[in-house]
Amino acid sequence: MNGTVVAILHADLYTPTRRIPDGAIVFGDGRILALGPTREVEIPTGARRIDAGGRPVTPGLIDLHLHGVEGRDMFGPELAEAARRLPRYGVTAFVPTTLTLPEAEVLERLQAMARVIQAPPPGARILGIHIEGPHLSPKRPGMANPAWFRPLTPEAVARYQEAAGGHILLWTFAPEEGEAMAAIPTLKAYGIIPVIGHSDATYEQAMEAIRRGVRQVTHFFNAMRPFHHREPGLFAAALLEPGVIAQVIADGHHVHPAALRLLFRVKGAAEVALISDAAPLAGLPPGRYTWLGYEVIVADGRCQTPEGALAGSVALMNEGLRVLIEEAGIDPLDAVRSATLTPARALGLRGLGQLRRGAFADLVLWECWGRPGAVWIHGEQVV
Ligand SMILES: [Zn+2]
Repeated sequence: MNGTVVAILHADLYTPTRRIPDGAIVFGDGRILALGPTREVEIPTGARRIDAGGRPVTPGLIDLHLHGVEGRDMFGPELAEAARRLPRYGVTAFVPTTLTLPEAEVLERLQAMARVIQAPPPGARILGIHIEGPHLSPKRPGMANPAWFRPLTPEAVARYQEAAGGHILLWTFAPEEGEAMAAIPTLKAYGIIPVIGHSDATYEQAMEAIRRGVRQVTHFFNAMRPFHHREPGLFAAALLEPGVIAQVIADGHHVHPAALRLLFRVKGAAEVALISDAAPLAGLPPGRYTWLGYEVIVADGRCQTPEGALAGSVALMNEGLRVLIEEAGIDPLDAVRSATLTPARALGLRGLGQLRRGAFADLVLWECWGRPGAVWIHGEQVV
């Protein structure tokens, strides 16, 4: 075998469908070779041994929804530099997410993103592109400018996917706008996973979208019609329908800890995907910034417009995982699953998001929840 074999011993292993206290994991050539209780796993001679001292080891975190990091905007050529910076937050794979701009500019930026994806930079794996806007509800815009909003059409899907070189993987849209419902089969035909978000959909409209194949909701609770017992909306449709995965932000500001607990209790960790929705300002000091022409203020762990609308998050996935465990009281096994295996499943990826023999050796050894100590991608230590 080429390259170093690494053996991490005495770890609190989260596979994450089960927890192995005092576990060991062996990997080499980019893949996981063995794992189990430390006393049972055979360590190959010559392996580099790391004693985890009881600290947690999890799969690398997978972020389905983020816009940038440390001043690098992923919606364009800076995607390469952003990929390089993500592993220090425990993120080993991600789906860079766009924003609402005039279409000519969107297409240009998609081309730049496609060039980065075709020659992958070192750092976290770029799994594809997530389109968020402009096919959103003017009633639920978040920070986006509704002046550029248009209902989703099959023609738009074709134009965007062509500019992106076929790399669009997720598409957030409001199915109740215009004829958007009819574009769902087109998204699927282009290999794109349809995602409801920034939507004012009623219960019936959401159910119709689900019947047509939608299986994911963008940042559940945020930028959607709130629950009402006579019009329970997308809220109840997504909570009740099995197989619908709810993305959720857990930065301590977007969603109350009790709402996080409600979501995990109703859906279970197999249908909750932790996302960061990180703004490019994530990881920068507090201050006033511009982001694609929008003025935003970073202060007290929040990123918001001068009018007070939350504009993405400034916490990355590592902090979200900590908030789930330490502030919302989610079982660590469930919290880890929502940040690893569930997002991988939401994308239909089998080799990522879990620690099992033959899977990619993307993993994190944590100093404590929220603080990655060492990170490996494809068996290479990157942090
Ligand atoms: Zn959003």
